[in-house]
Amino acid sequence: MPASLMIINYMSIFLVGLVLGSFYNVVGLRSVKGESVIFPGSYCYSCGRKLTYLEMVPVFSYFLLKGQCKSCNVKISPLYPILEFLTGLLFAVVFVAADSLSYMYLGWLLFSLLLIITVSDLKAMMIPDKVLFVFLLIFIFYRIIIPMTPWWGPILGFCAGFLLLNFIYIISRGNIGGGDIKLFAVIGILTGWQQVLLIFFFAVICGTMFSLVGLASGRFRSKQAIPFGPFIFAGSVICYFFGEHFLEWYISFLG
Ligand SMILES: [Zn+2]
Repeated sequence: MPASLMIINYMSIFLVGLVLGSFYNVVGLRSVKGESVIFPGSYCYSCGRKLTYLEMVPVFSYFLLKGQCKSCNVKISPLYPILEFLTGLLFAVVFVAADSLSYMYLGWLLFSLLLIITVSDLKAMMIPDKVLFVFLLIFIFYRIIIPMTPWWGPILGFCAGFLLLNFIYIISRGNIGGGDIKLFAVIGILTGWQQVLLIFFFAVICGTMFSLVGLASGRFRSKQAIPFGPFIFAGSVICYFFGEHFLEWYISFLG
């Protein structure tokens, strides 16, 4: 395919990702409040005014509005345009980097779930059951269309995620949320047991580094609860792109 066409492809996927990212913000925010993700249309969360189309353009609107609502001047969190941009970027990078169609769809699905729960975990410290349930069905469907070898790999992945997190829950005396346990079980269906364990491993490393930097700089107190969702997201990004290299390195290291 000519280079110019490829660039148009990358750009289109990036734009689709931006629009989806904007939808994921809405899903992440509304699912914690138990609201419908479709009706009503987008509105300001402070004054309730319905947004115009110009105010709903991903990333661009944030800069157009200078980060605040036109009516009530409430500040709009930079989290939203950042998440929109990240979604676009990740969708395009997955498209470029995935070596098969099935791995590309896997990446898009996995990151869609994690982007949504990152918003809800950051905003409300919770991972909504409804979101997990919808993705549970989507992931099972994916594994019916694109089976794993062996066929029971997704079941093993589900159990690995569920048991590992339950174990951590017990030894940490409830220092992780119940939502995290369910989330890892659902991820395990899509990725199988090796990757779900690796995602947890990378997530813990990211979370630990963040906490150490936060404590050292005095930005938070020890025992302060921090949402784990964003680190699970970071861990899954590392695992998706570098997990295989890491496993090869690790196995050669053991041998
Ligand atoms: Zn407002």
